[in-house]
Amino acid sequence: MGKRYADVIVDISHEQVDRPFQYEIPERMRDTLDYGMCVEIPFGNGNRLIKGYVVGLSDKCNWDPAKMKVIHRIVVDSTAIQDRQIQLAAWIKKNYGATMIQAIKTVIPARKSVKKIEHRKLILRAGREETLDALGQAERKHQVAKARLLRELLSEGEIPYEWVTGKLMVSAATVSSLEKAGILRKEVITSYRNPVKRMDSQETNKRLSQEQSEIVQEVIKDYDTGNRGTYLVHGITGSGKTEVYIRLIEKIVARGKQAIVLIPEIALTYQTLLRFYRHFGDRVSVLNSSLSPGEKYDQCERAKHGEIDVIIGPRSALFTPFPNLGLIVIDEEHESSYKSESAPKYHARETAIYLASLYGASVVLGSATPSLEAFYKAQKGEYKLFSMTRRLTGGALPQIYTVDLREELKRGNRTIFSWKLQELLADRLSKGQQSMLFINRRGLAGFVSCRSCGYVAKCPHCDVSLSEHRGGRLVCHYCGYEMPSMKSCPECGSKYISGFRAGTQQIEDKLKELYPQMRVLRMDADTTKTKDSYEEILTAFRNGEADVLVGTQMIVKGHDFPNVTLVGVLAADLSLSVGDYRAGERTFQLITQAAGRAGRGTLPGEVVVQTYQPEHYAIIHAGQQDYLSFYEEEILYRKMMQYPPSAHMLAVQMFGRNEAEALQVGKRLAELVKGMNPAQESIRNQLQVIGPSPAGIGKIEDIYRFVFYVKHKDYSRLVQVKDVLEEKIHESNVSRVSVQFDFDPMNGL
Ligand code: ADP
Ligand code: ZN
Ligand code: ZN
Repeated sequence: MGKRYADVIVDISHEQVDRPFQYEIPERMRDTLDYGMCVEIPFGNGNRLIKGYVVGLSDKCNWDPAKMKVIHRIVVDSTAIQDRQIQLAAWIKKNYGATMIQAIKTVIPARKSVKKIEHRKLILRAGREETLDALGQAERKHQVAKARLLRELLSEGEIPYEWVTGKLMVSAATVSSLEKAGILRKEVITSYRNPVKRMDSQETNKRLSQEQSEIVQEVIKDYDTGNRGTYLVHGITGSGKTEVYIRLIEKIVARGKQAIVLIPEIALTYQTLLRFYRHFGDRVSVLNSSLSPGEKYDQCERAKHGEIDVIIGPRSALFTPFPNLGLIVIDEEHESSYKSESAPKYHARETAIYLASLYGASVVLGSATPSLEAFYKAQKGEYKLFSMTRRLTGGALPQIYTVDLREELKRGNRTIFSWKLQELLADRLSKGQQSMLFINRRGLAGFVSCRSCGYVAKCPHCDVSLSEHRGGRLVCHYCGYEMPSMKSCPECGSKYISGFRAGTQQIEDKLKELYPQMRVLRMDADTTKTKDSYEEILTAFRNGEADVLVGTQMIVKGHDFPNVTLVGVLAADLSLSVGDYRAGERTFQLITQAAGRAGRGTLPGEVVVQTYQPEHYAIIHAGQQDYLSFYEEEILYRKMMQYPPSAHMLAVQMFGRNEAEALQVGKRLAELVKGMNPAQESIRNQLQVIGPSPAGIGKIEDIYRFVFYVKHKDYSRLVQVKDVLEEKIHESNVSRVSVQFDFDPMNGL
């Protein structure tokens, strides 16, 4: 047998981790050495022994064989944080497909010089009496934002400026007017630190409900007896899940350990963060997309050096390098944003469970609508299941009406609002209560078509339909291509060419037509282009500056508006027609989430679900808010069709500028997979190959996209398939076609 070589990197936190050195693998290590392992190697002129990590393995020598050095030894059982990070990267590489370098870059943030950060804060200057006076005045004048700021200052004394503009939603003008009046002053502090000081916590004294304390006790009992498991908390919105997470974290921190809390970015709301700050003060830190790479790096350093106990953030917060991780919480565990969309396409849930096993930590998953994956594992006993069935704030679950849009049309209603919805909208308007109207963005781009011949205007580069925007332009949402609107059809010359009018813009226009006095706010990709516009719209709505908020799915997640008593889901089945196996699940989740927005305060809520398929089981069970019945029907379908979670699926994607070439590569690889089936394998154990065919969107920015799917009941078998394909791709050197893997795809391809 020829010699084997390993690529070793020696400084992984270097900005560019892609400078490996090649070493010879001695005979005795042949069978054991693997990706990610820590090795000792002779380095530099003096051949000083240093530590490095294996990122590549091959038979080819890329270096003068006479000068090739040999790996000295494998370093075993190291528990340095960095070693565990590399181990995690190696696991991600193996299970999701990517190069080791890509995986390392995912897990370890690049070292960036950290500039000192200036933090501004507001400090209460006036006395209590004077402030209360000002508060009373603001309340009488209905200056909601000002009143909120004053109340916060009264209870906290000082607050970071970021909260004021970012999360408390108070304008700069309001702040200066209070500054001029001598109520508050600004102060600038320069530090690397979180500017939040530990706050008085009134929340710690909350008595846990029976359901809550059972969960906390059981998880902690397990933890203390050395049993580290994965727990799924299935609890309706408002049932007190967040409170459970906080209690658990307190207990874990008291045991000298640290905790990671994953929350979808969109649900990182001011209220949620405030609760964590109240409990953990400057021992908690937040990672979100508005931090610069330098600031993110800084948060990691603080974690490494034991300056914080808790980190909250989206998917990537999972890679915070704590020395003694004890608990990982994943809230809204079903969210598709937990799956990475670029290679390596890892899922945060599975990755968290592996990470926890490296540290001996526990994992708590929570959701009102658990993913089929998580609930399936809970049913099989792999996860421990807890249910929370009551809203703690007393509010009853909303009444849901399902409306058949076909019937509406028969009865002569040609608008996009059913009679029921119109009636309830008018009712709310007259009572001064708020409503939310929600439209599913998927598959609904406001496309332009010809009513005479069916022509659809498409982007010449991306194979998706163009969307009509106000101001008479047609725009591609993938690449930004623009052209003027058409007066007549380029195919048949007909004048009846127009947009499919059901985007958020059209809903807003129609509402104003029907209810001229109605104040409408709109939230979609167009109105949230700038960084703060998202918060600004939510603030304005919360402050009562509009009667109705119209939006895409952005508006249904996690927000708590006490004055909203009506939610309309305008076309519930649009997500059913997307045509991938998760469509039913997504629809159920969407309706449930939308319903969760109604009646959060003391007033009862109502929900109108408009649909063309009222008989679909996802719609029926969502209408009854019956997760278990939905799960049972959905899992039967998944089992019958061998879709995840009952089996697994690997999507192999080919990208290339040359259409024929990309397809050719796809066909060759698909054949290769079919050839991996042993001759007399039973059908049940065979790899099933579907495709290749053009991806859902066949072309983006002139790059053609093909995909084929491989199904098998065992995940590990699909990992083998990926390994074989990776090797093949490596050998054949077709650099003009790139190939990516996506295990159990979630986001549509
Ligand atoms: P979830 O995360 O499931 O939506 P939360 O933890 O946010 O639920 O709780 C919903 C509401 O109930 C919050 O306003 C919270 O302050 C309150 N709450 C939670 N637990 C308790 C408790 N044990 N006693 C009283 N109120 C509680
Ligand atoms: Zn036409
Ligand atoms: Zn385009």
